Amino acid sequence: MELDKMDENDWKYHGEGNKSLVVSHVQHPRVLRLLKYPAEDSENPPQTAEQAYRQIQNIVDFSSNVMSSLLGEKFIHSGEVVKLPLEFVRQLSIKVQHQRPAWRCDKVMDIYSGCALCLPNLTSPALHQPTHTPPLCIEIKPKCGFLPSPKHVSKDIKTKVCRYCMHQHYKVANGKWKRRSFYCPLDLFSGNRQRMHFAIKHLIEEPQNNFKVFKGGQCIYSSKEGSDESPDMNSLLHHLRPYFLHANNRMNCHVTCKAVLNDFIQVLVNALLSSGGGDGGVVADRQAEGRSFCEASIFNKERIRHGSRGLPTDSVLFRILQTQMLDTLDIEGLYPLYRQVEQHLQGFPKERTRLQIEGPYNEAFLEKLQKCPAEDDGSVEYAVAKVHQYRVAMTAKDCSIMVALVPSSEEEEDNENLSSQRQLRDFRPPAFSYSASILDLDPKPFDSIPRQLRLDQKIVTCYLRTGGALP
Ligand code: ATP
Ligand code: ZN
Ligand code: MG
Ligand code: MG
Repeated sequence: MELDKMDENDWKYHGEGNKSLVVSHVQHPRVLRLLKYPAEDSENPPQTAEQAYRQIQNIVDFSSNVMSSLLGEKFIHSGEVVKLPLEFVRQLSIKVQHQRPAWRCDKVMDIYSGCALCLPNLTSPALHQPTHTPPLCIEIKPKCGFLPSPKHVSKDIKTKVCRYCMHQHYKVANGKWKRRSFYCPLDLFSGNRQRMHFAIKHLIEEPQNNFKVFKGGQCIYSSKEGSDESPDMNSLLHHLRPYFLHANNRMNCHVTCKAVLNDFIQVLVNALLSSGGGDGGVVADRQAEGRSFCEASIFNKERIRHGSRGLPTDSVLFRILQTQMLDTLDIEGLYPLYRQVEQHLQGFPKERTRLQIEGPYNEAFLEKLQKCPAEDDGSVEYAVAKVHQYRVAMTAKDCSIMVALVPSSEEEEDNENLSSQRQLRDFRPPAFSYSASILDLDPKPFDSIPRQLRLDQKIVTCYLRTGGALP
């Protein structure tokens, strides 16, 4: 990428979240992730160009030095900070404005700093040789996959109903979404194929901001916030059909919608459970701990035909769950430690640097959180380590998985078929090569912790008032 010859016509709108807007290159498999800030501040940006550069460098460092070591290097692409010509950024912002969803326009793209994060485009992977059929990429934002320990929570309900399911009631009550999603993260993280299938089916039915499908780099399925309409499932099936038709039977063109959807989900489950190389073991079933079922999930436990074997230890879901579980105290148990750190910093402001409160996110930071004493010895070091662990867990609860499904080329498949039994062909799942990546690994600010506690209280109160009583 020649930074001095940037042309806005080479880039197009790709998507956005709450914090950043992403544009993709029309030819090269690359994206630029630009910062956003509240529209009220559009005239005077909240930070200088140097601060914006620092913020993005922090994201890169956090991802490459901290998250990558916890989640597994093979899943992570940290990217690099780039300094773009301001005129290019201004033109780009004008170009993409009309494609942005209205409900995201309470924030504007940063056009003042000229800084962006340059990343590989994970929706247009080049896994093998290019095939005629474009790859399918599925983005899942799984959210938190475990229940907190009863030791630290004040409300019993938090040990029975997962945060995601409670939050759904809160979001519907506040008009953010029209309908509740029946997706439950504990089903997705269970490692049990039936439960995972069930979870993904509900992600597809009510994708909210947890599920998107891309075909050849274009988003073909997602949901509109605050909208009454459900996303167009028929259109999704129309796109998926060619990928799954021949797998069932090349001659049979009457494969039902249900079969296409089932095959699609099955391939996704396989990809999520695959180890992506290496020989990881399988961990003991968390069911034994009694913390792997959410009472709000509508999955019927009696339906389980095969016991859960748990997640393979080198699967993407296992690594994310392990990192999420660094939150051992829950926000309620963590908050007093946060206050302890805050008070310490008021007395000794210079300690902020030594304790690496705002970074740098380097090996020393990782060591601080990994070498945390097992028991609270009252030291500020212990409190800081728990706060660092909590922030890392928050990032893991908020990240997305991008699963890339690349159809195996025709030749490969035919060779394979000559050597395998032909009769099995009709029932064989379609041949894809898959890979998984993890994206959106920004560090969560230290001072976002009080907000987390307030939100937690609001969600639980709302659930006890409305949700718990509803069927
Ligand atoms: P959130 O609100 O979830 O925190 P965010 O503002 O931090 O989101 P991202 O999730 O990083 O932003 O990016 C927004 C969207 O852009 C993603 O959901 C994804 O669809 C797309 N995207 C981000 N990074 C990439 C990438 N490297 N390749 C392809 N698409 C990407
Ligand atoms: Zn749940
Ligand atoms: Mg995101
Ligand atoms: Mg994010």
